[in-house]
Amino acid sequence: MDLMEYQAKTVFAKHGVRTTVGEVVHTPEEARAAAEKLGGTVVVKAQVLTGGRGKAGGVKLASSPGEAEEKAREILGLDIKGHIVKTLNIVPAAAIAEEYYFSFLIDRANRNYLCIASAAGGMEIEEVAHTNPDAVAKISIDPATGVDEAKAREIATQAGYPADVIDAVAPEIVKLYEVFLAEDATLVEVNPLVKLKDGNVEALDGKVSLDENADFRHPEFAEFADSSAEDPLEAMAKAKGLNYVKLDGSVGIIGNGAGLVMSTLDVVAYAGEEFGGVKPANFLDIGGGASAEVMANGLEIIISDPQVESVFVNVFGGITACDAVANGIVQAFELLAGRNEHVSKPLVVRLDGNNAEEGRRILDEAGLAGLERVDTMDGAAKRAAELAAK
Ligand code: GDP
Ligand code: MN
Repeated sequence: MDLMEYQAKTVFAKHGVRTTVGEVVHTPEEARAAAEKLGGTVVVKAQVLTGGRGKAGGVKLASSPGEAEEKAREILGLDIKGHIVKTLNIVPAAAIAEEYYFSFLIDRANRNYLCIASAAGGMEIEEVAHTNPDAVAKISIDPATGVDEAKAREIATQAGYPADVIDAVAPEIVKLYEVFLAEDATLVEVNPLVKLKDGNVEALDGKVSLDENADFRHPEFAEFADSSAEDPLEAMAKAKGLNYVKLDGSVGIIGNGAGLVMSTLDVVAYAGEEFGGVKPANFLDIGGGASAEVMANGLEIIISDPQVESVFVNVFGGITACDAVANGIVQAFELLAGRNEHVSKPLVVRLDGNNAEEGRRILDEAGLAGLERVDTMDGAAKRAAELAAK
């Protein structure tokens, strides 16, 4: 789960990282009131789960409450890389002397933590890494020893932060590491981490991704879940306990097992090339025990995606054999009909593996409208792509 800037800064503040949370508002009038309360020049900042807000016009200075209201009116409703701004963070303008980049993340390839830091902050780090790779330090962190003051100083030095900022920045780095660990984050990014004109160091922006696998030990995370920012289909799938990721193609995908579903996405994308670039509409793994209920829930979510033109159900029977899955599909059609959610889009089903023959027979006998059986994965992918292209 990704946090918005004000949420990230709230988490930073909880661990003593120097930052300014400011006010969170949703209307121009509230922005004016917040600016009045804060006094002086403020920064009006769009709260969206994407970077590059500054460049997109989502971060603006306002020197009076009236101007704050005006800027808020400009920024609210703005589309930043597909994210519509509904929330603003109003913060007192900081007197910035220098901007740096800082982050902790998980280095999966090396089974380690990684710190990426650079004295060239403010801009997109990908850009800096591309044009001036030497300016970006990558420091691996041994989880067993972590980051103490000495390690923090080493990081700051390697990052090329100026010598006069090391004393102020090192304790902030230690606290950011505490955030990373204690909050079970997979990413803690501060861009920019700034040196203020008074010499203090402050996290001016914050990007935090939390590991949802650790939700169970963080009941407080529930308040961060922003259902309005979440894709409505993903929210619906989550509520039903399904492993669903929305993509932007037109072939709905259901499969059992993450690996099979991943390869189904590839096969569909490949087959789709022949039909003008038809692509998968989603990832959906219904897992091992594909019951009728789970199948119905999965189908319901997929057919409620208006972009979906066809559905490919790709099942390899294992412990849950194909006959059970076939019965699940038949019952899912009935369940959906009961919910007034008839399967209105063509469905291509490929059943293979344990009890495939029996499963196919069940589907044939049921004679479900719009359902086609294709017994190979490539053949089924091609047919689903063809149907979506029609
Ligand atoms: P991003 O573009 O989404 O990464 O948003 P940031 O929060 O990083 O803001 C973009 C830029 O706006 C920063 O790099 C700063 O240069 C500038 N900015 C943000 N907050 C302040 C502030 O309080 N004072 C001043 N002077 N500039 C700010
Ligand atoms: Mn930033």
